[in-house]
Amino acid sequence: MTTRSETQSTLDHLLTEIEHRNPAQPEFHQAAHEVLETLAPVVAARPEYAEPGLIERLVEPERQVMFRVPWQDDQGRVRVNRGFRVEFNSALGPYKGGLRFHPSVNLGVIKFLGFEQIFKNALTGLGIGGGKGGSDFDPHGRSDAEVMRFCQSFMTELYRHIGEHTDVPAGDIGVGGREIGYLFGQYRRITNRWESGVLTGKGRGWGGSLIRPEATGYGNVLFAAAMMRERGEDLEGQTAVVSGSGNVAIYTIEKLTALGANAVTCSDSSGYVVDEKGIDLDLLKQIKEVERGRVDAYAERRGASARFVPGGSVWDVPADLALPSATQNELDENAAATLIRNGVKAVSEGANMPTTPEAVHLLQQAGVAFGPGKAANAGGVAVSALEMAQNHARTSWTAARVEEELADIMTSIHTTCHETAERYGAPGDYVTGANIAGFERVADAMLAQGVI
Ligand code: GLU
Repeated sequence: MTTRSETQSTLDHLLTEIEHRNPAQPEFHQAAHEVLETLAPVVAARPEYAEPGLIERLVEPERQVMFRVPWQDDQGRVRVNRGFRVEFNSALGPYKGGLRFHPSVNLGVIKFLGFEQIFKNALTGLGIGGGKGGSDFDPHGRSDAEVMRFCQSFMTELYRHIGEHTDVPAGDIGVGGREIGYLFGQYRRITNRWESGVLTGKGRGWGGSLIRPEATGYGNVLFAAAMMRERGEDLEGQTAVVSGSGNVAIYTIEKLTALGANAVTCSDSSGYVVDEKGIDLDLLKQIKEVERGRVDAYAERRGASARFVPGGSVWDVPADLALPSATQNELDENAAATLIRNGVKAVSEGANMPTTPEAVHLLQQAGVAFGPGKAANAGGVAVSALEMAQNHARTSWTAARVEEELADIMTSIHTTCHETAERYGAPGDYVTGANIAGFERVADAMLAQGVI
């Protein structure tokens, strides 16, 4: 029987190797560290997981595709972006994960997201593998016609790598209903197939699932509520700070408000808004979803209760709950220290890896309930899998049915993480619980399916 410390030193050695083999990919290194640092108890306890090559295979994507995406802007100038699809692990089902269109996208970012997605998707209990893709294209300030031409060019290469039984992309930052529509249209044209299950996040009239747009935000609030229940509290009357103003942030605010909490902030790259009366969602949706504007317009139009703080950090606003819903590494050590000083009780990640490792450590040391994204924001991809199920059966479920399934899945993810953490000697540590529970499911499938 190997001891935990022997196992940990094997895992540390592997981490060093991952850094050497994947130079200049700091986000991927961070995501790999975060998982491998918590696996020692389960690898030490179950000798089959120490089998040579198992974890080495898990950290190496099954396939990585990078391609040129040329397109013409409205002035007729040719632009060139880079496209990515990382098909990380298909032991549990077709690769599944979103596409991100943002100037910060590079191979390391897509690999970190794809790696996280493996464990997240495993935690849903559904049959989906892990993948991720995207481009360094920036949709901000682009006309609809430019976005359409970009999406068509992107799909002209991507179509040969995806399919309902192979790889099923969806949205992420910069990819919403509009982009999925253009991507689906081009896929259909090239392949001459009505293959609804090839993409999720589709419009409701043409194969989309009700509640998919809301699912990530709603699910994260349900996860936060479950963590609060463990502490003997609920969301009623709690003040919440939310970062971001995209799809995840908007529906996080909606669910918080529905459950009686007061969500007082939202943000974008220009700064943040604090609204002591609680964010007015009709106004925020109008500005972000219809006008595709910035959050300062919200403060301008809302009146006396709201103010815009240019360049500031949303984490400076005192709150009981914090729900980072913007992007990776947006909540650092300083922000965590401020939140703790202001008495935060729970932090639940709507975005992927928004909290830096130092900040996670600080929050956990201070006894703050911390819900890692791969558990807390799994509601989005879970409802994507339910969209695939509806597409396969050529049917569509009511909003009530999808929401009920989402609630059941979030409760079960919370319970799994909680119990797993306890079983491996880390009670209350949802990071360890999520990593080990996700790992066990994927590792068991990989072992059963042989060395491939
Ligand atoms: N991009 C989302 C995530 O990070 C959703 C992926 C999907 O629905 O496939 O999980």
